[in-house]
Amino acid sequence: MSQSAFSYPVLSQKTYFIRTFGCQMNLHDSERVSGVLDACGCLEAAEPAEADIVIFMTCCVREAADQRLYGQCSSLKSLPAAPSGKRVVAIGGCIAQRDGERLIDKLDNVQVVFGTSAINHVAELLAHAFESDEPQVVTVEDPACDATALPWHRETPYHAWVPIMTGCNNFCTYCIVPYVRGREKSRPIENIIDEVTGLVRTGVREVTLLGQNVNSYGRDRYGAPRFAELLRAVGETGIERIRFTSSHPKDLLPETIDAIAEVPAVMPHLHLAVQSGSTRILKLMNRRYTREDYLDLVQRVRERVPHIALTTDIIVGFPGETEEDFAETLSLARVARFSQAFTFIYSRRAGTPAAEMPDDTPRERIQDRFDRLVHVIEDTAHAFNQQDLGQVVPVLVEGVSKKDSHRLQGKSPKNQTVHAPVPEGIDPGSLVGKIVDVEVQTARTWYLAGEMRGEPR
Ligand code: SAM
Ligand code: SF4
Repeated sequence: MSQSAFSYPVLSQKTYFIRTFGCQMNLHDSERVSGVLDACGCLEAAEPAEADIVIFMTCCVREAADQRLYGQCSSLKSLPAAPSGKRVVAIGGCIAQRDGERLIDKLDNVQVVFGTSAINHVAELLAHAFESDEPQVVTVEDPACDATALPWHRETPYHAWVPIMTGCNNFCTYCIVPYVRGREKSRPIENIIDEVTGLVRTGVREVTLLGQNVNSYGRDRYGAPRFAELLRAVGETGIERIRFTSSHPKDLLPETIDAIAEVPAVMPHLHLAVQSGSTRILKLMNRRYTREDYLDLVQRVRERVPHIALTTDIIVGFPGETEEDFAETLSLARVARFSQAFTFIYSRRAGTPAAEMPDDTPRERIQDRFDRLVHVIEDTAHAFNQQDLGQVVPVLVEGVSKKDSHRLQGKSPKNQTVHAPVPEGIDPGSLVGKIVDVEVQTARTWYLAGEMRGEPR
């Protein structure tokens, strides 16, 4: 990408604020949008009130995200005037891709809409918006758009999101993602390795490889999945910690489990979305595995990596879910012993097959199931954390605890949040991005706590 691609004098010195909703892929897309705006000479603002450009990077996986976007967009109208005298509001991400022009009609203060593969147009669209009052909309898939070639404004110097593929081919019946993010498209392996090698040189210690279904990485490009090979190659770059998400159970190959077990930098944490414990519901969801397949997979993973942290996504209240189906989900959660789970109440997404399925379970009953599931997850998470009592765990420090600036906060290899008091005389800021050993003295449901041992490294 040539430097002239970012030469828009009207954008120079404009202040910008980006609010991101949804998944890690959106967080990463926002880092690319910031990178483009920085390259155009824009300056990041701390609040929308201080910004000439306000961008919402949206998610449409659940309905609540639509409502939040509309609320936040309208609330901009009551802000004082923008520093430059004109405020341009832009919407990117999945809602932008899904609704396009319609957003301009629905939200009268929005001027720019750019779809999920139009990030390379963002500077041009914003520049036009400052120069005219015409709405600026691009949602067509641009085969030349390679967001990974755009400048990148990373939120943290020690961690980087690395997309290895975009899109999804799975069409789970409840899910809108394949309709707004398109089909699977894998990046070349050499390209990913070059990127991670460059990141290591700049001091990055942990990468998270991103894709909707990383286990099928490479299938579209090489004719067969090559995720295990990718993990091994990333492990050779010298990066200290490798994480990845998301992993579809139907595509988790034995060779990938071997790579997780054998590559020292791959962290002992697997996010393996189950969605439901009932084979009947899994079939209606088009997940293409049964309850038994999933539990068998969990057992095989645990045989190879005994202390692995297993996390998951679960949907409660899928159309037609009965009490018996839900009981299967509860029992699967207990057997799988998840260390954490993202639990969601089913949200009807127009255009998906599940949106046409009969759905008459009362809302209160679904809420009650959801609460019961949360209790089970709390139990399994609490039990999981007890295993680390008395252990010394290496913690990658992220900063200080929100509640207490004298306690540092970071992540263990198993992705547990860990707290420890900052030793006397040490500036907590100097520990960010360092790995410190913490002897665990307390193990609660959602965090571990202890004392720092030895020197930060
Ligand atoms: N590709 C990832 C996978 O399959 O593991 C998931 C991506 S999706 C953005 C994240 C999670 O949102 C899904 O795993 C699912 O639990 C949840 N989700 C997706 N569509 C949903 C819907 N219509 N209602 C409620 N939850 C939904
Ligand atoms: Fe959605 Fe299923 Fe694809 Fe995940 S695998 S993004 S849940 S369709």
